[in-house]
Amino acid sequence: MAYKISNECISCGACAAECPVSAISEGDGKYEINPETCIECGACAETCPVGAPAQG
Ligand code: SF4
Ligand code: SF4
Repeated sequence: MAYKISNECISCGACAAECPVSAISEGDGKYEINPETCIECGACAETCPVGAPAQG
């Protein structure tokens, strides 16, 4: 399952900079992950200061 970003996201952009496949982009009010591109590496979850990205 690709990672998803919850509404806890504060749009800091840190995860987008870390994603190796550029699957993360700024969405409406929070960042979003393209499930077609995500390789489930977990870097976004490790980077996020508020724990917004999670698998499933
Ligand atoms: Fe990108 Fe990895 Fe997060 Fe998927 S799990 S969005 S590939 S950083
Ligand atoms: Fe949102 Fe976390 Fe990504 Fe920052 S690192 S944009 S808070 S999901």
